[in-house]
Amino acid sequence: MGRAFVYVILGGGVGAGYAALEFTRRGVSDGELCIISEEPVAPYERPALSKGFLLPEAPARLPSFHTCVGANDEKLTSKWYKDHGIELVLGTRVKSVDVRRKTLLSSTGETISYKFLIIATGARALKLEEFGVEGSDAENVCYLRDLSDANRLATVIQSSSNGNAVVIGGGYIGMECAASLVINKINVTMVFPEAHCMARLFTPKIASVYEDYYRAKGVKFVKGTVLSSFEFDSNKKVTAVNLKDGNQLPADLVVVGIGIRPNTSLFEGQLTIEKGGIKVNSKMQSSDSSVYAIGDVATFPVKIFGEMRRLEHVDSARKSARHAVSAIMEPEKTGEFDYLPFFYSRVFAFSWQFYGDPVGEVVHFGEYEDGKSFGAYWVKKGHLVGSFLEGGSKEDYETISKATKLKPAVTDMEELGSEGLGFAQTI
Ligand code: FAD
Ligand code: NDP
Repeated sequence: MGRAFVYVILGGGVGAGYAALEFTRRGVSDGELCIISEEPVAPYERPALSKGFLLPEAPARLPSFHTCVGANDEKLTSKWYKDHGIELVLGTRVKSVDVRRKTLLSSTGETISYKFLIIATGARALKLEEFGVEGSDAENVCYLRDLSDANRLATVIQSSSNGNAVVIGGGYIGMECAASLVINKINVTMVFPEAHCMARLFTPKIASVYEDYYRAKGVKFVKGTVLSSFEFDSNKKVTAVNLKDGNQLPADLVVVGIGIRPNTSLFEGQLTIEKGGIKVNSKMQSSDSSVYAIGDVATFPVKIFGEMRRLEHVDSARKSARHAVSAIMEPEKTGEFDYLPFFYSRVFAFSWQFYGDPVGEVVHFGEYEDGKSFGAYWVKKGHLVGSFLEGGSKEDYETISKATKLKPAVTDMEELGSEGLGFAQTI
């Protein structure tokens, strides 16, 4: 026995929420759309979990950050889904999918069939065990991917005041959690294998501004090494972190942010997988014409770079979701997804945005000394391909975004550096 829907969204994260809103705006009828999610709550803005959610004073809590408040749009609570005739199946894992038969099998044993499926399963956090380190199940070792992780982290933070935290990983989770831990009066040591934080995006010069600020806030950096094992007490709580370089760091709390893997396993052998994600065309349609993929799990053509990419950022989840719904409901009117990659972060009073691709030659501009307003351009084959700006206004960010999208020619790198933001303003 089972239920049948015209549209099914598998996964209830950011992409699912934005897709649901788009479906209602394009006129879905009662009972046509079902969202099935392992999480026990309606789709929410995941970025809040490493920011407002971890604040010691007046932390953000649901329902305040359900999608689509992150795009200054409607807040979709469970009631909203009910009022719009959308079946929201929560706390339910899908354990298998039969793409040929167009059916999903849930962990409760229910079969759900679809005419169109949108895969929005996102990603899972990489575990230390995948690098040969045991101990992820200790009560004070925290990952951060979903609400239950965030609740656990918030609880451990509360019981670790004035204690020591070791943050493993110098990427987005590491940097944002380290800032939140400092705000919660916890002593932080960050450990990562690279020479500086955010190594895949930041240049050494950009990274040094943030690292200097973190250091001034008491954060210690241990670079060029990884952890090798944990020390435990008799309750199996971690008490210290052993590093490959032979050093040991005391720990009341460990936060691990060492990357993610997209949740593709239900589709392996059924759909084409590329660069770790489900391969889709410029309409977000997979190798099966009834199945679409959006967000972190989708590898799509990024037209501006002429390359297939998988992105792990909220803006691409939101926009790919809207595009997929448009392509399903109005295929003739839907063109190619023409997306400019956009990343951002907010830590302490810092706020930066990046557009494009961080490849080629880099030129820095602005005030690196005071650390308030500075940026960088990336130039490849004589054209601007990437722009970074810290401390800009809304207009400044729009300016660098528009300029990067146009890939203007750059003839003189030195001049570009001295013009700085002015260069983008003239495009
Ligand atoms: P997700 O939002 O991860 O949703 C996937 C959903 O699918 C989940 O609900 C999951 O439970 C469900 N699911 C998976 N498998 C199954 C299954 N078999 N059955 C049922 N349900 C399933 N990006 C930014 O650009 N800026 C930020 O500041 C930022 N901050 C972030 C902070 C944190 C703590 C995290 C974890 C991520 C952050 N990101 C940020 C990344 C951004 O949140 C993701 O890119 C975005 O959530 C991807 O959306 P998605 O819909 O593809 O997947
Ligand atoms: P990232 O990929 O950003 O960073 C992972 C970091 O961990 C890298 O510095 C990586 O180094 C390092 N690392 C890898 N293996 C080890 C190891 N064994 N020991 C120590 N360090 C290691 O992933 P995160 O976990 O930080 O973030 C998870 C997801 O959440 C990403 O998709 C991210 O986009 C998203 N997110 C985005 C935010 C934002 O956009 N503002 C905020 C928070 C999360 P190396 O590069 O050498 O592999």
